[in-house]
Parts: sequence; structure tokens; C-alpha cells
Amino acid sequence: MASNDNTSILNSAYIAVEYIDALLPDNPLQPSFKYAWNYMMDNYTKFQIATWGSLFVHELIYFLFCLPGFIFQFIPFMQKYKIQQDKPETWESQWRCFKMLLFNHFCIQFPLIFGTYHFTEFFSIPYDWDSMPRWYILGAQCFGCAVIEDAWHYFLHRLLHHKRIYKYIHKVHHEFTSPFGMQAEYAHPLETIILGAGFFIGILVFCNHVILLWAWVMFRLLETIDVHSGYDIPLNPLHLLPFYAGARFHDFHHMNFIGNYASTFTWWDKIFNTDSQYNTYREKVKTKIEKKIK
Ligand SMILES: [Zn+2]
Ligand SMILES: [Zn+2]
Repeated sequence: MASNDNTSILNSAYIAVEYIDALLPDNPLQPSFKYAWNYMMDNYTKFQIATWGSLFVHELIYFLFCLPGFIFQFIPFMQKYKIQQDKPETWESQWRCFKMLLFNHFCIQFPLIFGTYHFTEFFSIPYDWDSMPRWYILGAQCFGCAVIEDAWHYFLHRLLHHKRIYKYIHKVHHEFTSPFGMQAEYAHPLETIILGAGFFIGILVFCNHVILLWAWVMFRLLETIDVHSGYDIPLNPLHLLPFYAGARFHDFHHMNFIGNYASTFTWWDKIFNTDSQYNTYREKVKTKIEKKIK
């Protein structure tokens, strides 16, 4: 009886989703995307798509998302949105960061990307257009991946700050006290593996199509580059996400070293009160501004 009840609840949920789907307008970009996707499927093997496709998506998205923050340093108008105004970006630090990034991307991450094809084969994850989940399912899956990764990141990141191990691994990521977008993946190779593992847990839980790998990598890069950008720009669509931490939150972590350990959301730091120094700091800044206005 219970299983019948469960089946009918699932069926009702499925019918409700189908009904909402039918009401939604068609995405005008869908035909072009379908054409491009099928073109890729017809001309490349699954191995090429999983390996070179994933490398291409990662590199393109990473440097594309870093570009606005990089350009902001040359625009005087944008300087009012810079979080740590007294610490402008320097060529020397950006060049050092860029070299380390290339090493990390091609010597650490790329060998891991080679595993993508074997992962999709092992779990029989489809690549074809017809099996692709709808955009809102994909959005919900990315959100689920972010919730899981955020929890992993919070606890492991906090552990990496432990005084007995900090200097061996995580110190590298904290080399710059005023972060900039490109610094998002500037880290010790071991950190890339330890914190990067959180990226794959959501994939193991939710992946029902290869597109989730790319959608989630895009979301995660956008988020991590935003929080490292050093700029708190207005109308940032990421702030529509409930409990989104944002650039000021992680910028404070780089400035202060203690607190604000989560990657995407604010809840873990709130639960464990590791955001208390940040809240005190914000109050101080607020009072300072109010005094200035008076
Ligand atoms: Zn840290
Ligand atoms: Zn950071």
C-alpha cells in the first residue's frame, strides 16, 4: 500500500512538472543549441567530447569569467566597487598567478579531466540530445551540487586552516590578501585535489547526462571567480540565489584569515558562528560610514 502511495505521489509530481513545462515559453535559443549539440555528437567521439570538450569548457569559461574583473582595474568608474580599495591589483601578482594557474590547469586538473570519459562510461551516462534534462531540472541539479560542495568546502577548508597543517597546503591560496578573479584556482596542487573533490560528490549523486558536468562546472567557476573578484558590483544576478555568500564574504576571509570558510552559502558559518568576526567588521564599517555622513 505504502509503495502504491509513493508511486502515485511521484506520478502526480511528474504530471505537475510536465504541466508547468507545457506552460513555459519555448527558449528561442533552443533550436541553435540543439543544432550545435547534434553537430558535436555527429562529428566527435564520446572520448573527445568528454576529454577535449571538458578541457575547452573549463579553460574558456575560466578566462572569460575572469575578464570583467581584470578589465575593471583599468576603469576608474569601477573603483568605487572595489572591496579593498587600499590594495590595488599589481602586474607582478597577476602574472605570478597566471603562471601557477596554467601549471595547475594542465598538470593537475587536465589528468583528472581524462577520467571524465571513463566516469560517464562506468555509470552509463548519456550524451544524446533526447536524454538531456530540461533547463529547470539542470538548474535544480546544479543547486543540489552547490549545497553538497559548500558543505564539503566548509569543513575541509576549515581543516586546512588548522595551525599544524596550514603552512603546508592552504597558505598558497592565501598569498594574496586582496583577491582578484584569476586567483580563484590559485592553490597548492594538493588543495586542488582535496577541495576539488567536493565538486564531484554532487555529480555522483545527480548526474543523468553529460551536460550536468558542464553546467555545474560553469556555475561553480562563475561563483568562485565572483567571490574572488575583489569587486562587489551592483545588480549581480548571483545574489538572487538564496543565502549566497558573495564577494565581500570571501574577500573578508582573505583579508582576515579567520572565519567565512564556506564557498557558496552563508549557512554553515552562521550555524558554527565562524562569521562572527565578519559581522563585527561589517558593523564597524557601517558605523564609520554613518559617522562620515553626519
Ligand atoms: Zn582559507
Ligand atoms: Zn579564496
